[in-house]
Amino acid sequence: MAGTETRLRIAIQKSGRLNEDSVQVLKDCGIVIDNGKDQLKASARNFPLEVLYLRNDDIPQYLEDGVADIAIVGENLLVEKQRNVQVIQRLGFSKCRLSLAVPKDAAVNGLNYFNGKRIATSYPATLRKFLADNGIGADIHEISGSVEIAPNIGLADAICDLVSSGSTLFKNGLEEAHVILKSEAVLAAGPNLSVEAKEILQKLTFRLTAVLRARRSKYILMNVPNDRIDIVSRILPVLKSPTVMPLAEEGWSSLHSVIDEDKFWDVIDELKANGAEGILVVPIEKMVV
Ligand code: ATP
Ligand code: MG
Repeated sequence: MAGTETRLRIAIQKSGRLNEDSVQVLKDCGIVIDNGKDQLKASARNFPLEVLYLRNDDIPQYLEDGVADIAIVGENLLVEKQRNVQVIQRLGFSKCRLSLAVPKDAAVNGLNYFNGKRIATSYPATLRKFLADNGIGADIHEISGSVEIAPNIGLADAICDLVSSGSTLFKNGLEEAHVILKSEAVLAAGPNLSVEAKEILQKLTFRLTAVLRARRSKYILMNVPNDRIDIVSRILPVLKSPTVMPLAEEGWSSLHSVIDEDKFWDVIDELKANGAEGILVVPIEKMVV
């Protein structure tokens, strides 16, 4: 029927820490969304996708109920909400950890320190399970935001909150005492996707895979004396053999390859010591293998 083409409904955070990176990753997948900050939903212009802008905390429930087919949320929220929701793909941004933190003068000697303490958190279910698994008896005070001020106003002895750089803890005179879980943004799906929705999801994850791989990788070029090509190629931590092209200058070649950004720094000195010169590392936009 005309006008009833299936669209995959994706929920993303309306505003907050996940919003910008979620919009960006869709954009990097070539999906153009007409932006409307105060809109509840928007349609992609060139991909069968409908974007629902929702409160982060509500997203797991909406996924389970089928209001949205898929969503971008933090793993930490899925652990907390325990809904019937499946992780499809890790997205590599919004990396953080859920940690116990205490005033910096507290003498914490192991988890037993938390026995009998009052702990403020927005993640009561995750904390409750963690305490039970470790045989710790503590009072959980659930608060919905600004958890880090609780010790300073005498509401709690410790907190359980999300940490990335630790600067919020530092500003409030707190320090991380124990990591409960690690989290990053994920693409998650509800339990009842239609066949058509699943097909669109497959197209989306194909694009996401290419985008995420490209984000982790760099294109590397360098000039190498011809008699050093073998040794330099062996130093490079790459899957395939590099591309080698002769330079105008006799006896030299240009060597091209793709490298994991993290690994580049481990081999740079060795590359130079073995005669590589003019090393360039450039970003890759998409990578389909
Ligand atoms: P909402 O008001 O939409 O319910 P919220 O208060 O639950 O939002 P935010 O503080 O915007 O949420 O955080 C959303 C998600 O971003 C978290 O669930 C977590 O996955 C991630 N996140 C939170 N804090 C950090 C941090 N310090 N560093 C990195 N990622 C974080
Ligand atoms: Mg919230």
